[in-house]
Amino acid sequence: TLTTLASIKETIKQKHVDLLHLQFVDIEGTLKQVTVTTEQLEDVAEGKTMFDGSSITGFSPINKSDLYLLPDLNTFAVLPWTETEDYSEGRFLCSVINPDGTLFEGDPRNILKKTVDEASEKGFSINVGPELEFFLFEADDKGNPTNQVADVGGYFEPAPYDLGEKVRLEIYRTLKKMGFTIEASHHEVAVGQHEINFKYDDALTTADNATTFKWVVKTVAQQFGLRATFMPKPIFGENGNGMHVNMSLFQNEEGKNAFYDETDSRQLSETAYQFIAGLLKHVPSFAALTNPLVNSYKRLVPGYEAPCYIAWSASNRSALVRIPATRGAGTRVEIRCPDPSANPYYAFAAIAQAGIDGVESNLAVPEEIIDDIFSMTEIEREERGISNLPTTLGESIQALESGEIGKKVLGEFALQEYLSLKKAEWNSYRIAVTGWELDRYQAKF
Ligand code: GLN
Ligand code: MG
Ligand code: MG
Ligand code: MG
Repeated sequence: TLTTLASIKETIKQKHVDLLHLQFVDIEGTLKQVTVTTEQLEDVAEGKTMFDGSSITGFSPINKSDLYLLPDLNTFAVLPWTETEDYSEGRFLCSVINPDGTLFEGDPRNILKKTVDEASEKGFSINVGPELEFFLFEADDKGNPTNQVADVGGYFEPAPYDLGEKVRLEIYRTLKKMGFTIEASHHEVAVGQHEINFKYDDALTTADNATTFKWVVKTVAQQFGLRATFMPKPIFGENGNGMHVNMSLFQNEEGKNAFYDETDSRQLSETAYQFIAGLLKHVPSFAALTNPLVNSYKRLVPGYEAPCYIAWSASNRSALVRIPATRGAGTRVEIRCPDPSANPYYAFAAIAQAGIDGVESNLAVPEEIIDDIFSMTEIEREERGISNLPTTLGESIQALESGEIGKKVLGEFALQEYLSLKKAEWNSYRIAVTGWELDRYQAKF
């Protein structure tokens, strides 16, 4: 059901909304907003709100910096934490528009839309369900995050009814009020680590939801004096934060899951196998999009339920691509390398594009790896054709630059902006002298 301007006006009246935040994301997926008054709604809905694109990371050059925001009416939500009897605040997620009314090619939302439209021309719609993990840390006197976690629970642990549990339930309720369908919420494996799962949806809606999710988690945590982080590996020696991405293609015409085939031994279709093959082929070249930080690669190491080898399996959690047991309409592949610091618009577009390329090129899927990959030797892995995921951001950036997926998904403009941002980040890390080096070398050498 599509939201209309009339129904939004009704809600605005009922909930006394006096301010509207117009939100969009930069190339890192960081949320931005400009606030207008409700009286401006008509103009706002027509895309008349201008902003300075040259001040947004990865947006337009200074000589053509005027850009406009076009709200997606379906993303309208009243912000539960602002509601009082007298007034409350609302928000829209927006697409970024050029002065001539065309879609701005550097906007991540537009980039995902392009991938969705192209898939649609090929007869497919893309469904996505992500699993975002996060840590809750205590704050110091100044409000900065400390390295003290807010609770001591472990996987699925309910008791004692600690602060982590209370915050998680409040996040759950807040998201529900904003229209999310929450499927499950649990304490994750590491101390202070949590996961809340919301229902899958089409790729664009889900990327919008992931963006909103991260904002709401941080906002609610802050109300409890805590700091939430989606940083991939905040604590050495503990599990990191993943964003497993569950994806399926549906056939537009028949409305059927294109990955399901009851006649196959695993009940997977040819399309599903080709999609998996596409993911395995292209993952090195899209890892810089799904795992965008220096810190991302400290999560992708053996021993912490995160993948580091390129393989697939129907059930093996040491594999990069796993096929959850559900069949029928719920048949899907789960890719386990992405982490929640990724820009979800880029990540979903890249994964979908890689898989669809496998389908279009009729790629053959490598053998399924049933054995535990972590306990194989390097030689065994080599014999079975299992290669490594990139081990540093530097490696990933190179693969993104030379591979096909980056150009196809981001286009030349956004790819160059992204590469220059990431190269600067990698270089800054490369020349930094860290505590580890001083500990290891200063006294000894
Ligand atoms: N935290 C793990 C990761 O880094 C996942 C753990 C899980 O969800 N079973 O991907
Ligand atoms: Mg999960
Ligand atoms: Mg998990
Ligand atoms: Mg999972």
